[in-house]
Amino acid sequence: MKWLIGLVAACTAFSAPVFAEPLPFVLKQVGPGVYAAIDGPEHKAGSNAGFVIGDDGVLVVDAFFNLDSARALVGEIHRLTPKPIRYVVNTHYHADHTGGDQALRDAGAIIIAHNNVRGWVRTNNINLFGDRITPELKARIEALPLPDLTTDKDLTVWLGARKVVVRTVLGHTGGDLTIAVPDAKVLFTGDMLWRKIAPNLIDGSVKEWMATDAALAAMPDAAHTTYVPGHGDVADQSDVKDFNAYLRDLRRLVSDGRKSGLRDEALAQSVAPKLKALHPGWTISDRAAAAEVRYMDEELAGTKRRPVPVPD
Ligand SMILES: [Zn+2]
Repeated sequence: MKWLIGLVAACTAFSAPVFAEPLPFVLKQVGPGVYAAIDGPEHKAGSNAGFVIGDDGVLVVDAFFNLDSARALVGEIHRLTPKPIRYVVNTHYHADHTGGDQALRDAGAIIIAHNNVRGWVRTNNINLFGDRITPELKARIEALPLPDLTTDKDLTVWLGARKVVVRTVLGHTGGDLTIAVPDAKVLFTGDMLWRKIAPNLIDGSVKEWMATDAALAAMPDAAHTTYVPGHGDVADQSDVKDFNAYLRDLRRLVSDGRKSGLRDEALAQSVAPKLKALHPGWTISDRAAAAEVRYMDEELAGTKRRPVPVPD
């Protein structure tokens, strides 16, 4: 018998790695069958994602930046439920939310996105990385799957009796969706909300963004709603208001600076420390602060370039 025990032990040791890879995200249950997958401290997943387990299948929200993270998410879903993964909804085209779409498609999901995502996901994502693009990343972006089902209107997705409401919203890219699970009082906001992190304004309109977030903070049941942001930890109504205050402060500080004749580098030098002082505990890198000021300045000057819808 000894040889048998030895063989079993050897096989077990071979098939089960001693050091399992830690997940690149932290899974948090935010309602019955509703999970947020929050990017880990090393930011390997690149953004947040999540999923809703319904009666007859699973709807996933966003796909992280890379296939490994998306495959790990699929693994976690399969660990929690035998139900099939039926949909992935991309909150917008940015690669940190769409980069792992192929792993969801391979797992059986239909990709749902705003109409504009089809025209932007393989092209505008290259601009997004600017001089930080590598040949490998460029090739990966050019091969991203295109969404299967697109909309520029609100959409109700039924997972059996469970209702999921996909809404079009304005502000971050010009092709943004939020995903609500009314029975659990959960709203996946995509990048309409960043919790205590300076947002990426490259494609945004702060004016539209603030109006959307004011509505998100004032919707029915907002005080009892769990908001899953695109970046940062699970949030509540006060975080939505805090984020809107950040945008308001940015706009006011840049506007004041412009009125006193400050431009470019001098404007950034003046605004960044004030913005950081008003929002202690936030992650605002120098690079991010300079970009925020530049984009806000362009918006106020009327020269901001935003993505343009591409004809089908
Ligand atoms: Zn993002």
